[in-house]
Amino acid sequence: MSKITHHIPEEMLCAYAAGTLPQPFAVVIAAHVSLCDACRAAVETEAALGGALLSGMVPATVSEDAKERLFAALDSAPLPPPQQRGSGIFPAPVMEALNGQPPRWKMLGGGIRQQILSANAEGSLRLLYIPRGRAVPEHTHGGLELTLVLQGSFSDCEGWFGTGDVEVASDDVDHQPVAGDEGPCICLAATDAPLRFRAMIPRLLQPLFRI
Ligand SMILES: [Zn+2]
Repeated sequence: MSKITHHIPEEMLCAYAAGTLPQPFAVVIAAHVSLCDACRAAVETEAALGGALLSGMVPATVSEDAKERLFAALDSAPLPPPQQRGSGIFPAPVMEALNGQPPRWKMLGGGIRQQILSANAEGSLRLLYIPRGRAVPEHTHGGLELTLVLQGSFSDCEGWFGTGDVEVASDDVDHQPVAGDEGPCICLAATDAPLRFRAMIPRLLQPLFRI
């Protein structure tokens, strides 16, 4: 993997560690964190700080009896499922979103393919496949878009993004990602509002994207 140079902004990592992000963003961040030592260390520090803060908030007046009942309840709680393993270019959080299955790509025209992993009021999460050298139609966002490169690379007005890199694009960015020449680019993208495509034809196609 190329060296990761575009990371998750700190305030977003804090929100992720606190569990307050919309689910599509949380999946993109979990996938980046699984690939990036620096962000993983930051999340672990954040989580430890949050835990210390929480334990400081537990009132000292909880009776021994209540504590015992709580620990008994925790002991009998079902174990969380074993962490799903990543597969190929897909880190574990992406495999989980794919229900352990390979992507079922839907053709969007121009060789571009996508699979929507989730789409609801919280936003949308999708995988995007861009053939080498191809561009995604120019678009702006009604909100925030997080894009993680899983394979290959892309460039846009914000810079060059290689495998493991994350682009955070706010609604004022009018961008047109173009896949690198080394091969197809596969990305995981989360948006918190529908994209607004600029050109007429992509706008007509937007219902197909369902994003
Ligand atoms: Zn990072």
